[in-house]
Amino acid sequence: MTTFTAPAKTASPAVGNQENGSIELRRVRKTYGGLAAVDDLDLTVEPGEFVTLLGPSGSGKTTTMMMVAGFEELTSGTVLINGEPVDKLPPKDRNLGVVFQSYALFPHLSARENVEFPLRMRKVRPAERRQRAEESLERVGLAGLGDRSPRQLSGGQQQRVALARALVFHPSALLLDEPMAALDKRLREQMQEEIKSIQRSLGISVLFVTHDQDEAMSMSDRIVVMREGKVVQQGAPEDVYAHPATDWVANFLGDTNLLPCTIVERSGGTAVVDLGPLGTCRVRDRGAEGERYAVSIRPEHLAFLPAARAQNSATGRVVSSTNLGATIRHRLRIGEQELLMRELSPSSRTAAELGTEVCVGWGEDKAQLLVLGS
Ligand code: ADP
Ligand code: MG
Repeated sequence: MTTFTAPAKTASPAVGNQENGSIELRRVRKTYGGLAAVDDLDLTVEPGEFVTLLGPSGSGKTTTMMMVAGFEELTSGTVLINGEPVDKLPPKDRNLGVVFQSYALFPHLSARENVEFPLRMRKVRPAERRQRAEESLERVGLAGLGDRSPRQLSGGQQQRVALARALVFHPSALLLDEPMAALDKRLREQMQEEIKSIQRSLGISVLFVTHDQDEAMSMSDRIVVMREGKVVQQGAPEDVYAHPATDWVANFLGDTNLLPCTIVERSGGTAVVDLGPLGTCRVRDRGAEGERYAVSIRPEHLAFLPAARAQNSATGRVVSSTNLGATIRHRLRIGEQELLMRELSPSSRTAAELGTEVCVGWGEDKAQLLVLGS
């Protein structure tokens, strides 16, 4: 793997102050023809933090990024960078490094000239420009390729040049909008690790956009889940994954079992619910209020038990078992309810045991009460 060197601490004022910036959006709104693409969004990125906007296509992620970068005007609200409102500043004065799908390399310039471009805009002298561009190319693993034109580089290499260009003026934060979307899976995973490594070594704040939940899970300090221009949930990746606030979030972030339930009792962060054929069980409760409730249990949080327990277990039959290589997927039927279960490696259950009665259980902290239809 490529190693990345920290930047020299000799930044001139013309190439950024090298402070790790904060980004803050206060009730930011963008409407197109009366429709809100971004709907009164509040969002912060703390200095050095890696925050990911995760949401399906059309949820307002790119519009949000464009407003932070200064390429789109706000309908209302304010964007602050390092605590200062920037609404009147053009993009180049916001000191943000930007890698957007729409913000491609200049085809007629070499890789190095592309990386030098932001420095040229900032009137940095040619010798210093060249040196900084070389350093930046080296940081993204492209040492020695500066003379190539973009079309002599692979898709992954072109994205690295874009990243080098975004980093070269020592921005106070990076805005990355689906930077790996065009790359194949293996290359994408490699770039994910490298971007994380660069972010850690520079301590730079990152606002990242993806619609890929695995990418969001693996890279972020905090995930902000967006839907229809609004934040529906935010938190540490493992927290959002383990404790989705709504059935929509639970489904968007991977597979889950949603078991309709009625609440028997609620107190102090847990609830006792009646799951019908699965009996009563004690679950986590974040206090969401609604009309219809369900319990969400991730497939990998179900485990076979030698015998049923009084709570948080169920007895049913194996309907199918599919070996997916690293994991096995079982479908279980418990009364009218189907349960999806994922095991890490082959264990006691095999295809030969299809139809046999089995007991499954889950940890109380792995089952989350949520509101259905939200
Ligand atoms: P995402 O990046 O999450 O896929 P976008 O921010 O690109 O979402 O789009 C959010 C919504 O705003 C979509 O419904 C999209 O059609 C609409 N939208 C985005 N840009 C424009 C525009 N320039 N004119 C009209 N509608 C737009
Ligand atoms: Mg987008």
